[in-house]
Amino acid sequence: MTRTRFKHIFDPELLGRLLWFGRLRWLAVCALALASVLGPQFGFASVWPGLFVVASVVAFYNLLFHLFLRGHPRKTDDRTNIDLRAVAVCESVLDLTALMFTVHFTGGLQSPLLPFFAFHMAIGTIMIASRWTYLLAGGVSLAAMFMLALQSSGVLAYRPLVAGSEFDVGVAALNLLTLIVALFGIVYLTDSVASRLKQLSIELYETTRTLRDRTEELQRLFGDMADLERRKSHYMRISAHQLRSPVGTIQTVLRVLAQGYVDPSTPEGMKMLNGAIDTTDSLLAVINDLLDLAKLREGRDKAPWSQAVNLNQLLADLFDTLAPDAEEKQLTMTPDFDGVAILDWGVPTDLVHAFENLMYNAIKYNRVGGEVRVKLRVEDDTAVIRVIDRGIGIPDDYLDQVFMEFVRAPNAKHHESEGTGLGLAIVREVVQVHGGSIAVESDHGQGSTFTVRFYLGHTPPEALRLLQAGNEPGYEADTPPEISTAS
Ligand code: ADP
Repeated sequence: MTRTRFKHIFDPELLGRLLWFGRLRWLAVCALALASVLGPQFGFASVWPGLFVVASVVAFYNLLFHLFLRGHPRKTDDRTNIDLRAVAVCESVLDLTALMFTVHFTGGLQSPLLPFFAFHMAIGTIMIASRWTYLLAGGVSLAAMFMLALQSSGVLAYRPLVAGSEFDVGVAALNLLTLIVALFGIVYLTDSVASRLKQLSIELYETTRTLRDRTEELQRLFGDMADLERRKSHYMRISAHQLRSPVGTIQTVLRVLAQGYVDPSTPEGMKMLNGAIDTTDSLLAVINDLLDLAKLREGRDKAPWSQAVNLNQLLADLFDTLAPDAEEKQLTMTPDFDGVAILDWGVPTDLVHAFENLMYNAIKYNRVGGEVRVKLRVEDDTAVIRVIDRGIGIPDDYLDQVFMEFVRAPNAKHHESEGTGLGLAIVREVVQVHGGSIAVESDHGQGSTFTVRFYLGHTPPEALRLLQAGNEPGYEADTPPEISTAS
């Protein structure tokens, strides 16, 4: 089983051995051909043309194997469908058959070439699974027995290597016995060494792979940490930058007044002071939004969850809250609710904050006399809330960025100088904490649609974690522990 799972790791080595064995086979082909041609001149008449035929057949299949193996990838990872072990088994069967014929043409079981079977078996055991080599040893033994039986019964002609030598059943039988013992002995010995080596290779392969995986994991982790650090310092830098300019403005006003260049009691002085107060307001707005965002991010796991938050009610209340702002701009505010959306768990204050931001933006970035529509639909277990306006819209290249901190599109800055660029970051955070999603579509100059989706059977992350970890003592699926309920 283990061998099968890891067998591909031996592929490159096996391929190398097969190619090496192929070269060795060319040598054997030359030797056989030479022996078949020269043999009769040295008194070995039986080798011509038998050995020449054997040499030709071996040369033929060796060429085929050579062409077949040449295109095989050498690296472990480049696995192909070619099973090299099957190739090795085929080669062994053919080689042993060729050897059997060679033995026949050189004196049968009295041939001096019998030891070559043992040599073959040793190499075979290294290349292929031991069960195959035992089978091959059995096959050779049977073939040799068969040969002895045929020769002793006179069915198969005895072809002595040296002219005049007689067939001796006793010697042949003794040689057969020695051959069988030698074959199985060699297979057993080679297999016990080779299988230990194979096991060690598998262990080495596994260790190397684990090490490589761990290294990759560490590299990824370091990469993520470096990325996080980069984003943290980027965030700190833009936050500091946003705070610096209003503080600078206030400082300049205070200096001018303190050094007596302008009298604070004069209209000009009063104007400067009021300007400084307005700047302080926007500074405080940024600071408050930053604190809200930080609180949301840090408090994900211990948010004050409430059960059964009615989104219809929450949005209807916001229509009342924002009515004065809408009136100021002579906007029509249209609720378009179909269905009742009750979130199983939610943090009402955060949800109010988020939808207030969205609806306030729809008013703020609208034109006088325009319309804001809030659509609520319940689709299966999902509540879909769309805040739609026909206002100034968002330029295409800002669509992906508006949820990022401090991003304000130029048309928005032009339309409404007040703004922190943090509202949508807060909205996204709240939606995500509630397991929801938010998206925006907009036609520049035509209006925007912000779509929020919530899964109504939402569970707070902490409860979800406990639920996934299995039943904690005193914990029931619907009742997350240690979660304070907002009043
Ligand atoms: P702020 O409104 O304080 O600038 P937000 O984070 O709420 O910050 O919004 C970020 C930016 O997204 C805005 O500056 C504006 O460019 C764009 N934006 C958000 N809502 C709308 C909207 N309804 N219509 C047009 N632009 C919008």
